[in-house]
Amino acid sequence: MSNLFLRTLRDDPADAEVPSHKLLVRAGYVRRAAPGVYSWLPLGLRVLKAVERVVRDEMSNIGAQEILLPALLPRDPYEETGRWTEYGDALFRLKDRKGADMLLGPTHEELFAQLVKGEYSSYKDLPVILYQIQTKYRDEERPRAGILRGREFVMKDSYSFDLDDDGLTTSYHAHREAYQKIFARLGVRYVIVAATSGAMGGSASEEFLAESEVGEDTFVRCLESGYAANVEAVITPAAQPIPFDGLPPAKVYRTPDTPTIDTLVAWANATLEGTFTAADTLKNVMVKVRAPGGDWELLGVGVPGDREVDVKRLEASLEPAEVELLTDADFAANPFLTKGYIGPKGLAANGVRFLVDPRIGDGSSWITGADEPNHHVVGLVAGRDFTPDGTVEAAEVRDGDPSPDGKGELVSAKGIEIGHIFQLGRKYTNAFEVDVLGENGKPVRLTMGSYGVGVSRLVAVLAEQWHDDKGLRWPRAVTPFDVHLVIANKDQAAIDGAQALAAELDAAGLEVLLDDRKASPGVKFKDAELLGMPTVVVVGRGYANGVVEVRDRFSGESVEVAVADAADAIT
Ligand code: ATP
Ligand code: MG
Ligand code: MG
Ligand code: MG
Repeated sequence: MSNLFLRTLRDDPADAEVPSHKLLVRAGYVRRAAPGVYSWLPLGLRVLKAVERVVRDEMSNIGAQEILLPALLPRDPYEETGRWTEYGDALFRLKDRKGADMLLGPTHEELFAQLVKGEYSSYKDLPVILYQIQTKYRDEERPRAGILRGREFVMKDSYSFDLDDDGLTTSYHAHREAYQKIFARLGVRYVIVAATSGAMGGSASEEFLAESEVGEDTFVRCLESGYAANVEAVITPAAQPIPFDGLPPAKVYRTPDTPTIDTLVAWANATLEGTFTAADTLKNVMVKVRAPGGDWELLGVGVPGDREVDVKRLEASLEPAEVELLTDADFAANPFLTKGYIGPKGLAANGVRFLVDPRIGDGSSWITGADEPNHHVVGLVAGRDFTPDGTVEAAEVRDGDPSPDGKGELVSAKGIEIGHIFQLGRKYTNAFEVDVLGENGKPVRLTMGSYGVGVSRLVAVLAEQWHDDKGLRWPRAVTPFDVHLVIANKDQAAIDGAQALAAELDAAGLEVLLDDRKASPGVKFKDAELLGMPTVVVVGRGYANGVVEVRDRFSGESVEVAVADAADAIT
């Protein structure tokens, strides 16, 4: 430790709210570079690599092959599947020097589908599972809790390619079991819950949620039957559908003849008689447009600045038209309207509890008004998107509600998503026409699964689940060092003895962190507790009498062991 690149901090970082974030920063595991962007220092990197090792091991056990794709990606493949737009503001977009659009990969379904199409051509090549452990980029709206929700983070993402549905089911279950092994080995407390497929598309999907009060996902489970589901995915037969009766009545105004952002703002100001200021005239206002006599079209939420694109679209598409403005009061009055993000998440954000018809997907979509052909209709015409007859099956799921399987009551809890497995089906293989020649000589369209583990997030999750009020406490599978050996005696004989013991433990295959700093024993003990190695060995006053102290960071127990027996006692 006298030359380890490590500085521990006495105080919690000002921006930290959850224990894992405070501790990982105080203990010098990570350092913030920008919101949601973190550097890994020696101890943190060791934990991250330990998590990766376990993940690699279990992926290899199911026959998955590791490859590495770029994080810097061209727009085209994402354009082809619609995700260039669907991802909305969460996508990091950039331009190269020639002006070509590029992005930093948030997840890689497109690239894997294209890759397999390029390499494989026969049914004999299948099935195949490919994976990578790679840095992903998502411009999260609320990066949070240090590495728990980063904008740059490490994910293990794998992709299965099969000839038929049975094959996909087999690949899916292989992943499910591999994930159970990974999380058991790491020492995470978690539940598997039914999930919705969201932006990924596809059908069956389950999430692995680490149990934690600081989690952002809410799930319900039935303790009697074991049924568990993310609240976004709960299907309760007992729930009463709430009819969706369209938009609240709004006044219809005629726009000026040549609408531009400026004239619209001025016009809206005048029409609304000063209800809005110039700066926020279109802020939080849902704009609907129709050519006279035509159908209404939703154009999005017009927020000058961050949603300016919506207004631009409005400008571009408008002949003189009728514009319907929904005010804040309209939003407040209608539970089906949410600003910006509409769909289950938006509904949930507004305190509306709801059901999702899994045949249709979760219906979530960004209302950005950008150039994607149909995404903008989702929220407001939620009824049409959720069920054909125009009802949103909206219902409340509460503690004590009957479980959908009728076997008991539901209880709710919070969780952190650490893994997600999807049976994607043919959404991506259709987009790229990923076919191989079948046994009968006819082309077969491959079916695909995708499976993610939040590798860097797991470091935070483990810290969250295993710390105590003194500091971190690492499960053996991920601890940066097995033994933290503290020299708490200034005698040269004790120092030499500690060095010898360290060498002995090292030879026995243990990773040893030796605190040979000139600091006081008190400072060293505090740091040992903060850093969280599972075993702390103290070469202290007892050394003169031939004993060292062995402390268990989990139980808090400490025993004196003869120096000669120490290595045996610890290994
Ligand atoms: P969340 O619901 O937490 O936003 P997600 O559903 O968007 O996660 P997926 O697209 O399913 O995430 O990605 C697979 C895994 O990657 C997730 O299960 C999670 O563990 C991890 N992950 C996703 N976003 C982040 C992030 N911003 N920071 C760290 N890990 C993340
Ligand atoms: Mg997310
Ligand atoms: Mg999620
Ligand atoms: Mg997910």
